[in-house]
Amino acid sequence: MKTTGEKRKVSLTVWIFIALILGVFAGILLQGSPKIAETYIAPLGTIFLNLVKMVVVPVVLFSIMQGVISLQDIRKVGSIGGKTVAFYICTTAFAVTLGLVFANMLNVGSGYKLDSGMLEGFEAVESPSFIDTIVNIFPSNAVQPLADATMLQIIVIALFFGFGVIIAGEKGKLAGSVIESFSEVSIKVMGIIIKFSPIGVFGLITPVIATNGVSVLLPLLKLIGVAYLVSIIHMVVVYSSAVRAIGKISPIRFFKEMSEAMLFAFSSASSVGTLPFNMECTKRLGVKKEVSSFVLPLGATINMDGTAIYQGVCVVFIAQIFGMDLTMSQQLTVILTATLASIGTAGVPGSGVIMLSMVLQSVGLPLEGIALVAGIDRILDMARTTVNITGDAACSVCVNAMELKKEQQAG
Ligand code: ASP
Repeated sequence: MKTTGEKRKVSLTVWIFIALILGVFAGILLQGSPKIAETYIAPLGTIFLNLVKMVVVPVVLFSIMQGVISLQDIRKVGSIGGKTVAFYICTTAFAVTLGLVFANMLNVGSGYKLDSGMLEGFEAVESPSFIDTIVNIFPSNAVQPLADATMLQIIVIALFFGFGVIIAGEKGKLAGSVIESFSEVSIKVMGIIIKFSPIGVFGLITPVIATNGVSVLLPLLKLIGVAYLVSIIHMVVVYSSAVRAIGKISPIRFFKEMSEAMLFAFSSASSVGTLPFNMECTKRLGVKKEVSSFVLPLGATINMDGTAIYQGVCVVFIAQIFGMDLTMSQQLTVILTATLASIGTAGVPGSGVIMLSMVLQSVGLPLEGIALVAGIDRILDMARTTVNITGDAACSVCVNAMELKKEQQAG
């Protein structure tokens, strides 16, 4: 029998879905006058996303600290961290490869006519170098990252202070209790905000549909189709097998429980914004808080399989449009750089397109190619964000199962 709590959760997913459909209809109706959608409906989405972003920093900070403290052992954090990072890197490299293979096989760039006017006035944004990305993980200030919501730096702060509480022993107990209490409060605040998600989803999706008319989408339909196809294949094949083989749960149950977070990721195009939803959904999948509170924020920051797929597909698309053939070694370079670029991609709307320049540069493709895909970025971003957060959840299910097994063997 379902508890009242469960009933409420199910109905929220349905409400989000209804909001998505209504948003699509409203968007189609407003295609003639997208200004109305931008002026009057988009603010609903913006307000909602602002609230979600507001709560994300305290949730991540306190829940990671609390997660570390509850593990009571720095080695255990290392063991969960190691498995998580290994899962993330392997699945991401596989995702780019899948993107490259399908884009080549389906000739993603064929049938597209390059009009030189499309490239005029385009300026590529410089992406940070790999070394800079690594150096930037470590903050020089303990407050600034919280103000700027720089997730990776917040994770580092939370880890260090969490370790501090453990090492301080008896004297750290008070700090530990305060953190636990704040963690609980932040999660409750997050729960209040999530209740408003159907309104937010409506406000987010309507302007996207209203401004992306058929005329913008049509020439790039093949690119969109290939990117979506590979995203679905990656989720169905990789995540289903992982949660079945390692996590020991049925893929159908996995996707059913994940539907709320996936719908929100699709509508918001923000992994970080979807974090509160992902925490709720993985809780229902039985993932322990000490695992999810660590694996999910890290994933929302560094694990971007959808972005990797997008980069693989776009590289082949741009190469084909400009009549350039990518050699085997160039494609291997793409696998490496796209994996790194997706790690450096922030979990906010539109950041994948910035990192695409790093991948194009690595194989000498013209950066102007980005101008061709930037116009429909939001449509691609919706798919890649959905894959990104589903990958995080799949990893949390697997790591949770591995940790459980280890505990059973030890005890
Ligand atoms: N919007 C994506 C995310 O939040 C990142 C990207 O642009 O690829 O996961």
